[in-house]
Amino acid sequence: MKRWKMLIGGEQHDARSGRTFERRSPATGEVVGVYPEADAGDVAAAVDVARRTFDEGKWSASPARVRAQILRKLADALRGQADALARHLAEEVGKPIALARGEVLAAADTFDYYGGLALDLHGDAYSQTVPDALGLALREPVGVVGVIIPWNFPLALLAWKLGPALAAGCTVVVKPSHLTPATALDTGRILLELGLPPGVFNVVTSEAENGAVAGGALVGSPLVDKIAFTGSGATGKKVMAGAAATLKKVSLELGGKSPNVVFADAPLDAAVAGAYSGIFMNTGQVCQAGSRLLVQESIADGFVEKLTATIKAKVKLGDPLDAKTNMGPIVSEAQLARVLGYIDQGKKSATLVLGGGRADDAALARGLYVAPTVFSAVPADAAIAREEIFGPVLAVQTFKDEADALRQANDTTYGLAAAVWTQNLSVALRAAKGIRAGTVWVNAYHGMGLADQMPYGGFKQSGMGRELGREGLNEYLEWKSVQIKIR
Ligand code: NAD
Repeated sequence: MKRWKMLIGGEQHDARSGRTFERRSPATGEVVGVYPEADAGDVAAAVDVARRTFDEGKWSASPARVRAQILRKLADALRGQADALARHLAEEVGKPIALARGEVLAAADTFDYYGGLALDLHGDAYSQTVPDALGLALREPVGVVGVIIPWNFPLALLAWKLGPALAAGCTVVVKPSHLTPATALDTGRILLELGLPPGVFNVVTSEAENGAVAGGALVGSPLVDKIAFTGSGATGKKVMAGAAATLKKVSLELGGKSPNVVFADAPLDAAVAGAYSGIFMNTGQVCQAGSRLLVQESIADGFVEKLTATIKAKVKLGDPLDAKTNMGPIVSEAQLARVLGYIDQGKKSATLVLGGGRADDAALARGLYVAPTVFSAVPADAAIAREEIFGPVLAVQTFKDEADALRQANDTTYGLAAAVWTQNLSVALRAAKGIRAGTVWVNAYHGMGLADQMPYGGFKQSGMGRELGREGLNEYLEWKSVQIKIR
């Protein structure tokens, strides 16, 4: 168990009140970290220093080479310290250690990618429009960025924001989830060791009202230019409303109820494996989880049988720090109650195929473990078909033909991700174009190594703005038009 301090202006700080909060492992119930409980005054102090640092220009007007170097050194440092960082993720999130290590390495890749883009940051020139004037379109950093992140991928989702923010020359105040502050604080420590000027990267920690007190202070501050938020739709709406008072820029990455569509001609073994990882990776606590499995009627029974057999053979619930474990606990008591509530609703509206409650293994009794759960014959209007559960609960539905598949896939208020499995290229392309979601995978789930380069975000109520890729950098830049008369 470690006692942590916040990072403000390049120095470690307790909360001004001296108050702290604890994080307990969801696997064992033991305290794994103690953190300062920031109030609005602590947040204001962090924002003040981020504002001053930005306005001084030491970082915001630094050579691109300097920003690129820091980002690449950060990537290398994360790789070098991957074991320690992964341990924090496994202890706080409850995710299996191998997945945690993968998250650290993915975050390193994201920082590397934005280190490269920093070197290619440039605007545009208009020299041929009229003979006696020149237009320069400049790219400038948006300013002070407030970063608010959830607990499910605390380091990767920080990298998605911090990478482009630092590449652009912004200064940052991060408020991590109170369930998982360790990796943001460790990232701050590493950045200082690497020579990032004090005040560029600040971290405040708080659990009051599930982070609403410190998060709200960040959103409301007139000194913050932009909020980059990942979290639930309910909180996203509050963030957007709060940001309206000062008309600050907002990017929102929110939830999903993503359809995973399997046609009768799909490569079946791969589709079963994709359906499995689509919903059970990170215990289903994934914004893009394939939580709605749509299977063509003619193969549905056999497909569900194969999937169920795979789950029984593969799932190893257990201690996240044990290398053999591939599914950890639910992150918190509140989230556990939510997931079990949905399972109870599912039992009333659909057919329970597998699981259906807490794991019954006595060895897991101290942890917040839920058995992997599958429901079939799920009606379109059932809560488990429409609402984001954020747990290991799969809703299986069937479709008749291509038109029916697309109609059902789009029958959701969300639009974060989708997958389609078929060997027919025309069907795949029509589905990829027809499904209203920010990412569509064909014959895969959860991507295939293209993530950093491609824009990521949601249609409909899954969010606004895009992260990753060049679009992710644009979110942290302003355009400035300079018009010059030639006399
Ligand atoms: P959450 O909305 O409860 O919290 C997200 C963050 O907002 C936390 O840091 C929290 O402390 C803070 N917060 C809470 N109230 C606030 C307020 N009033 N003002 C400002 N900040 C506030 O979400 P969570 O439970 O931490 O994470 C799960 C959710 O995140 C799921 O809905 C999931 O789909 C979503 N998510 C989305 C993506 C994506 O990229 N689209 C990725 C991961 C998770």
